[in-house]
Amino acid sequence: MILKDPEFGEVIVRKNPWSNGIKFSISTSGRLQMSVPKFTSNFLAKRFLNQSRDTIREKLPIKDPSSQRARDAKKKLLMKRAKEYLPYRLEYHAKLYGYKYDKVRLTHANTRWGSCTSNRTISLNIGLMQVPEPLRDYVILHELAHLNHMDHSSAFWAEVGSHDKHYKDHRRRLKQFTPGV
Ligand SMILES: [Zn+2]
Repeated sequence: MILKDPEFGEVIVRKNPWSNGIKFSISTSGRLQMSVPKFTSNFLAKRFLNQSRDTIREKLPIKDPSSQRARDAKKKLLMKRAKEYLPYRLEYHAKLYGYKYDKVRLTHANTRWGSCTSNRTISLNIGLMQVPEPLRDYVILHELAHLNHMDHSSAFWAEVGSHDKHYKDHRRRLKQFTPGV
């Protein structure tokens, strides 16, 4: 549910069956997010929000409503571009170097560029559409190499290096960017 609040903009209310108290946090779009017990009425949620205004103002970096909406639009655009590009680029490198993965997922977490699970699912962050192509390819090759090495051992890095000679430079340059949209 979304509450429209004159001060905080759109507030996301999540009814959580396991929650036994009310918790505030910030969503990836910079919106205020409230987790409340399952049977909390909207009236109660609003009342609690009103009682907590001072604490929220002090502690949570809520973005103003216009930048929340700008971020939504940017995310939508990046997701569209990522869908048209990343799965194909992954497939291209996998074919070229003989890797077999099971699935590809596009993510928009703020913390990582990509991941590879033991059931051979590769996740790629849509924020990769904002970094230069050699760095994007480095992330793809890094995750593909995890199909053979689920660690960052020297054997893993040797494999990354065999496909991307400049991986050390790419890895260093990638640190100037953050994955969050
Ligand atoms: Zn890794």
